[in-house]
Amino acid sequence: MKYVFGPVPSRRLGRSLGISPIPPKTCNYSCIYCQLGRTSVLTNERKMFFPVQNIVKEVKKALEKEHVIDYITIVGDGEPTLYLGLGELIEEIKAFTNIPVAVITNGALLYDQEVRKELLLSDVVLPTLDAVEERMFRIINRPHKDLKLELIIEGMRKFREEFSNQIWMEVMLVKDKNDSKETTLAIKEILDELKVDKTFINVPIRPPAESWVKIPTNEVLAEAQRNLNAESIAHFENLLIESVDRDASPEEQILSITKRHPLREDQIMTLFPNLNEEEIKKMLEGMSKKGLIKIEKYMNRRFWTAKEEKKK
Ligand code: SF4
Repeated sequence: MKYVFGPVPSRRLGRSLGISPIPPKTCNYSCIYCQLGRTSVLTNERKMFFPVQNIVKEVKKALEKEHVIDYITIVGDGEPTLYLGLGELIEEIKAFTNIPVAVITNGALLYDQEVRKELLLSDVVLPTLDAVEERMFRIINRPHKDLKLELIIEGMRKFREEFSNQIWMEVMLVKDKNDSKETTLAIKEILDELKVDKTFINVPIRPPAESWVKIPTNEVLAEAQRNLNAESIAHFENLLIESVDRDASPEEQILSITKRHPLREDQIMTLFPNLNEEEIKKMLEGMSKKGLIKIEKYMNRRFWTAKEEKKK
């Protein structure tokens, strides 16, 4: 499948069938904590990257095989609202299933009336807000030059007025950047104004785009959670792994996941009951030699990530 993956066991969305409607690493931010690495295509221009019907066909096919799905989640290896077919895609999905549709977005394009209108069809929108002042926004999210935080927050306000379904905000906390008491209380003030239905705090649990990015201490996280009145999804130990196509070879399965995010080596060891540790290690080394994946160390753990395909 090219656009659909999972179902992914999601900490917020249960068993979630993922849809990526944009090319890899295409985003209007290049967050310092992004698990996809630095953004390759930093753009704020919406495009019809793929025909809507091609994506719809894959969703239908996936639903024929998978019967227990809690959410269909449009997420993307980048920013899904950059997809010009977003509204049509949600509308098409709604026409053949009652499964709720969620959209995970950085929220930057909510200032665009058309994007807000397209998102009205969804059941849950999960935007992100990591900063409430421009300087910190630029440090953490490294947005496209056309984006201004004030405009984005204003867009979020308008969206709240127009959208009566659920808004679940995520705040990604980075040590010594946005984890101070002052910052989390200031974010909370904005979240109250936005009347979000839920707030989640998260931390960079997988290797981030910038190796100097660090996770706040447990004490700081606990305080931030209180300040933001948030639920925490920052569970480093319990990283969840999505279902993969069991008809695919182990190599293909590893590639399919590591293209979307780094995968911890100890978790790979649990993926293939028919292979022992030595065999899996040999396979990983073989894939690494072929230039398919690379190893990264983060938080004293070994993670494997797909290497970027060379552009033709
Ligand atoms: S974390 Fe999300 S918003 Fe930030 S660069 Fe990565 S894909 Fe874009």
